[in-house]
Amino acid sequence: MNALITASLSQVSPPRSGGNRALLRKARAFEHAMIGMALVDLQGRWIEVNERFCQMLGYRRSALLVRSYESLTFTDDLEISRRCLDRLRSGEVESVEFEKRYLHADGRIVWAQIHAAVVRPESGEIPFIISQALDITKQREVREALEESESLLRVAVAGADLGMWHWQESTDEFIFNERALRLLGYEKGDVSTRLNSILGLVHPDDRQRLADEMAAHLKGRRSGIDRVLRFRRRDGSYMWLLVRGQVTRRDDQGWAQQVSGTIMDVTKWKDLERRLTRLATTDELTGLLNRRSGMSALKQAIQSSVRTGEPMSMVLLDVDHFKAINDSLGHQGGDEVLKSLGVFLRKNLRSGDHAVRWGGEEFAIILPGTGSAGAHSQAHRLFSSIESMSDGIEGLDQLTVSMGVATRQESETADSLMKRADALMYRAKSAGRNNIQFD
Ligand code: GH3
Ligand code: MG
Ligand code: MG
Repeated sequence: MNALITASLSQVSPPRSGGNRALLRKARAFEHAMIGMALVDLQGRWIEVNERFCQMLGYRRSALLVRSYESLTFTDDLEISRRCLDRLRSGEVESVEFEKRYLHADGRIVWAQIHAAVVRPESGEIPFIISQALDITKQREVREALEESESLLRVAVAGADLGMWHWQESTDEFIFNERALRLLGYEKGDVSTRLNSILGLVHPDDRQRLADEMAAHLKGRRSGIDRVLRFRRRDGSYMWLLVRGQVTRRDDQGWAQQVSGTIMDVTKWKDLERRLTRLATTDELTGLLNRRSGMSALKQAIQSSVRTGEPMSMVLLDVDHFKAINDSLGHQGGDEVLKSLGVFLRKNLRSGDHAVRWGGEEFAIILPGTGSAGAHSQAHRLFSSIESMSDGIEGLDQLTVSMGVATRQESETADSLMKRADALMYRAKSAGRNNIQFD
């Protein structure tokens, strides 16, 4: 063991009884320390380094001792190293702690956490610095990756205009962050910090499902909370929110302690979804169901008839001599007649019945739960009041229709029922139009 180290260490902490053995132990401690250690003179030259320190920088001890610490310090960190050395040298502080980068023998950068203290021997010998260096390259990498992902997350949260929320299980404290409050139109202090009160702001139709989903997640039956729901704003109106969340802290037994998540205003999406659904299912001109959704309404009515044993009926209705109407009123005038028919049918149907624009000037009416007697009277009522519609349309002398009314027979399919209604409607045409035919 180098005599200088032995001497230096004895000065760091003078041995009491059994001096030599204690000295030896310290010297061994220095040599075999799990941490890099170096003795540096006040000019910044290495006086001694231990094995771990050599390993950290990738040099042999002899090669390190002829170099200055500055020559192996990453340029950007020279200043902090010098400043720390100055503070120690001037006696401003007894010890310093900082992080710096060294240049490893193979050219890569090594991050080290330095803890350095100045040692001033009483004997009047020259003071020196004892420095511990811990390789924190891995930790730095992890920390930097984390910082990067956190800042990316912040950008994402801000960019997506997400509000955040946290719920503390033990205190039942519920907190919205500022952005979330702004999104919902609340001021700080406006909303309660109790989960139950927050749930109270969720639309009654959406509340139970959210509570169930949260409970399922807390019990580990769901990987997270992910719901679109309506939430009451300060002005009483509801807005559509996408609410997501996850347990972010658990206790030793695995019980959830904290749940955190985001809220996002999806009102625009919901409106778009509603518009698209309406476009996809309704006929633009008349506002009635289009043929595709009319078909599915018919199939549904049949399924429920099969299930419940209740009857169901359908009516096909075709405007008589519509070509002539187009000829006298023009195509746009004809459109207005079709539109008026749409309004008329919607107004004259019971809820649960469906009016469908089956094609050009042909309409279908689906009557779930209605047997042949009910269908007769319903069809008659429509048939006799359609004639009076022409009074409201300028230039239209008369408006008549031909109708076929069919009630579903046992085990009859949608296709067959439709065909029968169609045949009945044509029978009404053949019978001179302005006519209604029943099966
Ligand atoms: P019928 O009594 O035999 O039913 O005679 P019709 O003239 O009503 O029947 P036809 O099927 O020969 O003609 C239907 C006409 O309806 C032809 C078509 O130009 C017109 N039509 C179809 N769709 C529309 C529409 O959306 N707007 C207008 N204005 N006319 C339409
Ligand atoms: Mg027609
Ligand atoms: Mg027709």
